[in-house]
Amino acid sequence: MPQDHECACPNVTIGSTSWSVVSGGRHAIFWIRRKDSALLPALRQLGLIAAIRGDASEAAALDAFTSRLLDIPPARWPSFRELAALAPGGDQARDRLVELCNALAEHGADHTIATELGRLPADLVSLFRSPGFDFSDLQRLACDFDATTFADFAGLCASAPPGAVDLTGRLCAALPTLRRHRRRVPLGRAAAVADTLHAAFEDPTTHILACQPVGSLRRYDATVGDITLLVATPAPDRWLGRVTDQLATADVGHRGKRTATVLVQGEEVTLRAVPPEELGCALVWYTGSRPHVQQLSVRARSRGLRLTPSALLDPGGHPQPCSTEAAVYEALGLPSIPHELRHGTDEITRAERGDLPSLITRSHICGDLHLHSLWSDGRDPIERMLRVARRLGYEYVAITDHSQSAAASRVLTIDRLERQRDEIAGLRERFPDLSILHGAEVDILPNGRLDFPDPVLERLDIVLASLHDEAGQDAQRLTARYLGAIRHPLVNIITHPTNRLVGRRQGYDLDFDRLFDAAVQTRTALEIDGAPGHLDMDDALARRAVAAGVTVVINSDCHMADRLGRQMEFGVGTARRAGVSRTAVLNTRPLNELRAFIARKRNR
Ligand SMILES: [Zn+2]
Ligand SMILES: [Zn+2]
Repeated sequence: MPQDHECACPNVTIGSTSWSVVSGGRHAIFWIRRKDSALLPALRQLGLIAAIRGDASEAAALDAFTSRLLDIPPARWPSFRELAALAPGGDQARDRLVELCNALAEHGADHTIATELGRLPADLVSLFRSPGFDFSDLQRLACDFDATTFADFAGLCASAPPGAVDLTGRLCAALPTLRRHRRRVPLGRAAAVADTLHAAFEDPTTHILACQPVGSLRRYDATVGDITLLVATPAPDRWLGRVTDQLATADVGHRGKRTATVLVQGEEVTLRAVPPEELGCALVWYTGSRPHVQQLSVRARSRGLRLTPSALLDPGGHPQPCSTEAAVYEALGLPSIPHELRHGTDEITRAERGDLPSLITRSHICGDLHLHSLWSDGRDPIERMLRVARRLGYEYVAITDHSQSAAASRVLTIDRLERQRDEIAGLRERFPDLSILHGAEVDILPNGRLDFPDPVLERLDIVLASLHDEAGQDAQRLTARYLGAIRHPLVNIITHPTNRLVGRRQGYDLDFDRLFDAAVQTRTALEIDGAPGHLDMDDALARRAVAAGVTVVINSDCHMADRLGRQMEFGVGTARRAGVSRTAVLNTRPLNELRAFIARKRNR
């Protein structure tokens, strides 16, 4: 028996307790002597974490295991594996117990608990790290209320009776100051992760009636706080069970009746399943933004109603029929507010006045004026870009590879630009239904000059100018470089004007009022660049530009054919966030008007 084994093995520490490892093996089976009861709280906490995850069998196994430890005199302790065999559940549960015990012995209680805690939904972990909340609070929230995100916590508070002093009351009091610890995910990455799941759910056997990303992803925020998919299905619990059963245990952070948190490509995704009659309120609630929903809630209260994530309740607490978002807004005396405009600023007042802008849509876009190919740092040949552009229904595209001094992996020398012209001439014959403009994305050099001489620029159909290289210059000098390019008669578009990189580099701090003024005077378009790394101008700057009378252009700045459509969608989404209408956008105009726009500046 283990207790008789003469130990020559090292001690290990769990918390403040030292344990003797007296045997080991291929499966890391070990025997330990209990020096005190520090192990028991650790096992209890691991059991609570399993319960929070919604893993009832692991929680029960840990509970039974802990009880067995209490019952057995230390002198007669068997091995963990032998103990685990006494736990309920199948081999999987026992293997998991051995895994946890090994982790406790090898890494200590604090580390093991921190690791398991890290698998829980990130917002629950944020709550745990804030003062006043413990594991049992988390367990109640996750298991009793299926509440695992800040949006759920806000939903609980909306349903709580005024002055609630229990857990919900504490949560409501803490909510305004709770800080999210999770990192925000760039829009492009979040959309790719959501697409992966969306595609998996398209199987008709999954019985879903609607599947919609919500939150900041749906609102086209440049970075996404939580990737959440809302699914309408007649049997939410069963659907979530089917989905999570197909995933590895390690990839499920929580599994409740209406909500599951899963890991997809390393990113946390919240799946919400609701019955169809709750879809309208759920879409409004989980799309946010939080300030927008708070304002709607105040409006509902002023009408004797209560807005919750599942229903709009009348004064008697009876749900109003709201299976669509439009029905929710209508019940609140409002027209539907486009999700991109739900910033929580003045959109509700404007909606009330009938003063919401008529937003541009993807179908208004006639062409894409900023594409890269293998001639510079694009991944695909021009022909492949054209095939996708044709499939997207475009009337025209501009091929705009990088100029000779750009820092791109490949660039266009003047000689290569001429050869590219020949290739495009050949492609025009093969794509008679698509007008191909030969352009270039020309660097604005540190001395303010353009990277191609004027005779070269004159031979292009369209010229885009970009300030990629800050060259250590201050805002005044950078503004002057831009102004020089805007005033150049051959420059038609200024691309990604602040040159920010989302999440990595701040945009230039320029004198934008002067840039807008010059752009209006010279008929130069400023770009909303849909590449997820740029999304530049952002919505705030684009709103200012359009208010100043600037013509904007929405481009994909695409380097890979298969992202052409998606990046245009991001650009349009950013423009919609800015309240941009079709008339302000250059590439909603047919080709003859586009050519006239270019010619007018050249002929000034
Ligand atoms: Zn660029
Ligand atoms: Zn570009």
